[in-house]
Amino acid sequence: MSQTYPASDEFIANAHVNAAQYEEMYAASVSDPDAFWAEHGKRIDWIKPFTKVKNTNFEFGKVDIKWFEDGTLNVAANCVDRHVATRGDQTAIIWEPDDPKTPARHISYAELKDEVSRMANVFKAQGIGKGDRVIIYLPMIPEAAYAMLACARIGAIHSIVFAGFSPDALANRINDCGAVAVITADTAPRGGRRTALKSNTDKALFDCSDKVKCFVVKHTGDQTTWIEGRDLDVKAMMADASTDCPPEEVGAEDPLFILYTSGSTGRPKGVVHTSGGYLVYAAMTQELTFDYHDGDIFWCTADVGWVTGHSYIVYGPLANGATTIMFEGVPTYPDAGRFWEVCAKHKVNQFYTAPTAIRALMGQGPEWVEKHDLSSLKLLGSVGEPINPEAWNWYNTHVGKGKCPIVDTFWQTETGGHMVTALPGATPAKPGAATKPFFGVQLEVLDPATAEVQTDTAAEGVLCVKDSWPGQMRTVWGDHERFMETYFSQYRGYYFTGDGCRRDADGDYWITGRVDDVINVSGHRMGTAEVESALVAHETVAEAAVVGYPHDIKGQGIYAYVTLMNNVEPTDELRKELVKWVRTEIGPIASPDLIQWAPGLPKTRSGKIMRRILRKIAENDYGALGDTSTLADPSVVDDLIENRMNRG
Ligand code: ATP
Ligand code: MG
Repeated sequence: MSQTYPASDEFIANAHVNAAQYEEMYAASVSDPDAFWAEHGKRIDWIKPFTKVKNTNFEFGKVDIKWFEDGTLNVAANCVDRHVATRGDQTAIIWEPDDPKTPARHISYAELKDEVSRMANVFKAQGIGKGDRVIIYLPMIPEAAYAMLACARIGAIHSIVFAGFSPDALANRINDCGAVAVITADTAPRGGRRTALKSNTDKALFDCSDKVKCFVVKHTGDQTTWIEGRDLDVKAMMADASTDCPPEEVGAEDPLFILYTSGSTGRPKGVVHTSGGYLVYAAMTQELTFDYHDGDIFWCTADVGWVTGHSYIVYGPLANGATTIMFEGVPTYPDAGRFWEVCAKHKVNQFYTAPTAIRALMGQGPEWVEKHDLSSLKLLGSVGEPINPEAWNWYNTHVGKGKCPIVDTFWQTETGGHMVTALPGATPAKPGAATKPFFGVQLEVLDPATAEVQTDTAAEGVLCVKDSWPGQMRTVWGDHERFMETYFSQYRGYYFTGDGCRRDADGDYWITGRVDDVINVSGHRMGTAEVESALVAHETVAEAAVVGYPHDIKGQGIYAYVTLMNNVEPTDELRKELVKWVRTEIGPIASPDLIQWAPGLPKTRSGKIMRRILRKIAENDYGALGDTSTLADPSVVDDLIENRMNRG
C-alpha cells in the first residue's frame, strides 16, 4: 500500500471542496453534465447567456464538440474588465525579471485594462480583426499577457511560439496557421544570456508571406535590424493609442487560441481551443485544484509558450481575479535558490512547477531552499510528467516542510485544464499518483490490445475518456481528419490520451507514461517511467531517461541515459552498481542492458524529455532524428550520438 498524505484539518476546513463535496459534485457532474455545467458556466460573464450546454459526439468520423454554443462573451472582458470595478487597484500580474537586481513590477487590474486596450487598438489600426491569427513570439514579459488578451479583446486568434524555438519552428507555425502578424521582442534575457528574438523572426519571415506584419517590443533596447514598412514599434504605438477599446462579442465556439504541441512525439499539431468552455474550465480548475482564495499570490513557473502558461498564468487566474506571477528567468539563475527567493519575496501561496525543475534543484542540495523563508506557501503543484517518489519526497520535505498538500496534475495541451488531480481538501496525496478525475471527466482504463474496458477497480491499460468536458480541444487547425485520427480512431467512442495508466485498489490513477514509451522485454510490458524512477532513487543519479532498443534475445533491451549528480565520477563500477540497484528495486527483468552517461538530455522547452530522439540513438539510427527544432538545447544530441552505446 502506498502511503497517503492528507491535508491538515485546518486546510480541509477552509478548502473550497472537501471529500464529501467532491463525491457529491463528481456524481452530479457525470450523471447530468448539462445541469452541472449550466451551473458552473455561470462563473464567467456572458454577453448573451447560453441556452444550450453540451453538444458533443465522440463517434469516429463524426467527432464534433460544442459547449455553450449559443452563448456569446469576450474572454478579455472576463479576465480584466469585470474585475476593475471591484478590484481595480489589486495586483493582477507580478512580473519578476530575469535579473533579480531589476525591480519587479506590479500591474493592477486597472492598469492591465488600459495596457490591453492600447495594444488591442494598435492591432486594430493595422487591420487585424476577428478570426485573424497572430503569432506571439515573446519572452516572459507583461507584453506577452497583453498580447494574448489584446487578441482576445478583438476576437483575433493567438498562437504562442516558445521564445526558445528556432526560426524554422517559428516559420512553420506562421505558415501553418496563416498568421497575418507576429509580435516579438528585440532580445530575450534568460538565465543571464540573451536570445536574439527579432533576428530569429527576421530569418523566419524570409520563409513567409511578405504581408506578415512584425510588431516589435523594445524590451532590452538591444540593437536590431529594422525593416521600414514592415516592422512596427509596439511600445511607441501603444503610447499614442487610446485606452478605450470595446471588447468584441464572440461566440462560445469561436477559437481563442491555437497552440502547437511541444512535439515530443512527432510533427506538431495546431491544437485549437475555443472561448467559452475553455475559459470556464481553466478558471474552475485554477480555483479548485490549487484551492485558490481571494488575495492569494499564485505562481505557476511555466512559460506562456506552454499550455500550462495559458491556463494557469493567464486565463485561469485572471478570470478568477487572482494575483498571478510571471517569471522571466530560470530556476538556477543567478543561483539554485532563485525559485525560493522569489517565493519569499512575493509571499507566494500556491507554487506550481514541473518534476524536471524539482529534480534539477534537488541535485543542487537542500541548502539552497533552506536559505529562504517559505512560510507563505500553502500548496504545491506538479505537472508535465509523472513525479517520481524521490522528487515528491524532496518537494514535500524541503519546500513544503511537510505541511503543504501536493497536487500532481495530469493533463495535456489537448485537454485545456486538469484532468486527473487531487483536490487538496478532498483527496489525500499519494506520491507518484495523479489520483482522481476532475469534475465531468469520465476516465476509463482500456486494454491496449482488445480495447476492452477494465471494470475491476484495480486495473492497468491505456487511459481514455468516455465523454467530453468543456476544456477539450475542438480540432487540429485546418485538419479535422487528423484530429479524429489521432484521438478517436484507435479506441472507438473514446478520447484516447496516448498515456498508459494504472488504477489502484483505491481507485487512484497513476500515469505510467506515453503508450509509445512502453517497452516489451522478454514478453514483459513495462513503462519506462518505472525504471527511470528506480534509477533516480539512487543517490548518485540526478536524472534518467529509459528507452527500448532491438535486442536479439529479449525482443527489446533496456537502454538508460543517466545524468549523474554534480561531482560524481562516471565509472564502470558505478554502471554495475546501478544495474544491481535496479534489479533489487524492481526485479531482474528491469535491469538496464546499456547505460550511457548523459551530461544533458534532449528536452523540449517545457522540460520534457524527447524519448523519440533517444530511441533513435539507442537504435543506432541517429541519421533521421526528425524535427528537432523544438529542443531547448540541440547541442546535447551531438554528445549523445558521439557516445552512443549500441553500435551494432
Ligand atoms: P506532444 O503531444 O507534441 O508529443 P507533449 O505531449 O509533451 O507533446 P503536453 O500536452 O504539454 O505535450 O504534455 C502532455 C503529456 O505530458 C501527457 O500526455 C503526459 O504524457 C504528460 N503529463 C503531463 N502531466 C502529467 C502528470 N501529472 N503525470 C504524468 N504525466 C503527465
Ligand atoms: Mg501529447
